[in-house]
Amino acid sequence: MQIHRHPLLSQSLGTHRELVSFHYGTPDTGPKVYIQASLHADELPGMLVAHHLRERLAALEAKGALRGEVVVVPVANPLGLSQRVLGGAAGRFDLQTGENFNRHYPSLGDAVWAEAGALLGSDAEVNVQRIRAALRACVVRLPAATELQSMRRTLLALACDAEIVLDLHCDHEAVLHLYTGTALWPQAEALARCLGAEVSLLAADSGDQPFDEACSQLWWEIAARAGTLTAADGRARPVPPACLAATVELRGEADVSHAQAASDAQALLDFLTHRRVIDGLRTPLPPLRREPTPLAGSEPVTSPVSGVIAWHKAPGDWVARGETVAEVIDPISATVTPLTSATDGVLYARENRRFAVAGMRLAKVAGTLATRTGKLLSA
Ligand SMILES: [Zn+2]
Repeated sequence: MQIHRHPLLSQSLGTHRELVSFHYGTPDTGPKVYIQASLHADELPGMLVAHHLRERLAALEAKGALRGEVVVVPVANPLGLSQRVLGGAAGRFDLQTGENFNRHYPSLGDAVWAEAGALLGSDAEVNVQRIRAALRACVVRLPAATELQSMRRTLLALACDAEIVLDLHCDHEAVLHLYTGTALWPQAEALARCLGAEVSLLAADSGDQPFDEACSQLWWEIAARAGTLTAADGRARPVPPACLAATVELRGEADVSHAQAASDAQALLDFLTHRRVIDGLRTPLPPLRREPTPLAGSEPVTSPVSGVIAWHKAPGDWVARGETVAEVIDPISATVTPLTSATDGVLYARENRRFAVAGMRLAKVAGTLATRTGKLLSA
């Protein structure tokens, strides 16, 4: 195992932050896997999973069972982790710019195409290597004029050429669910099955460039361009979706325990064994809990009024369209406002605060019909 320390640009006199990455196995001897935790710094289940993973990966490395390289960044956002506001943890938004820490990653499809498009030929594996080389070069050239930019560039540099990228998050209160690219589902199904995901949300473009899409989306963008060229000269230029990137939501913010983290770490190792990153017996995959649904079918339950929230439904519950999910109560006027689901589906995440202000999104229901357009992720 190697420890790499990555100093970030110092934002202000007297402060120095760094990212620390742990590298198991040997680079370029097999697949590269990248796993990071707590990019939203207030989401801690993944941090404990990373702790358990490190111990397990060290043991696997010691007995020579790792093929390729597994990179773990247990604390992906030291900027956010240092945010304490009036005694509470923040960590989701950069205080300088207001930007969500898991949005606004650069879309590199155009730049990579400009660098590697003309080099692509009929061998898919050679194309993958050429695209990865161009991608690494493009990431190195990204601006790093602020501490936030230098953190984003460092994380992308560690992840961009990996075959598997897992970004470990959580919701407020939730069942385990994941977000990934529509084109990646044939690969992601095994991940969903190993983790026991209750919901898998698919999109080709969720709208705001989260970290996982910055790693994966360029592959289908380049494939589309390469496919256009095929017709012109008759030669196929195959470009597979060579980066399985997913945002894994490890339940809710309070779901942090050794038992759960050890179980989740084992599930991730089972998946890596299935992908032959780890030598070992490939046990049969657990059944898929539920078929994937479009991210565009995920319907928010929004409160039009302010008041105290009384839940009728919990994460994991199936709700029917029109069914009451919660009530919002104004104890002054004694008004009780029922909030209903706009779709049939699984209520997979809900607020952990119990006071609503008008316009607040209180829950999310995974419907099967893609009804929404535009930006598909919440703030
Ligand atoms: Zn998150």
